[in-house]
Amino acid sequence: PKSVFLVSACLIGLCTRYDAAIKPDASCSKFLKNHIWIPVCPEQLGGMPTPRPAADITNGTGLDVLQGRAQVCTKAGDDVSASFIKGAQEVLKIARSQSITGACLKARSPSCAVSGVTGVTAALLKQNGFKLYEF
Ligand code: SF4
Repeated sequence: PKSVFLVSACLIGLCTRYDAAIKPDASCSKFLKNHIWIPVCPEQLGGMPTPRPAADITNGTGLDVLQGRAQVCTKAGDDVSASFIKGAQEVLKIARSQSITGACLKARSPSCAVSGVTGVTAALLKQNGFKLYEF
């Protein structure tokens, strides 16, 4: 049977980025070739529109946000943590229901980043034992 991967929707060129730019990632597409893949955007699944204000975790990591010790805020100072956590939970539901092999996630995102400041969704998937790849 083929492996099933979740993939950050923006990595395959869907219009989900905060700035609504279309930026498909060639190395991610190559990685996913011959696998089954399911695009997800946690920020849209959390109820946010595209485009939307850029946001960052400034005082911790995605795990800290999940545990209430840090926040995701827009540059204007709006706390959008609840939407980020909701989006992460929706992605986790999909990951569980599809018995995925792993998730291909977008670097430098407050939701999806695997390395550096880990995003909220990446932290929740990792906490639940899913294998993560970053592009
Ligand atoms: Fe959505 Fe993640 Fe891509 Fe941001 S990095 S647009 S949250 S899929």
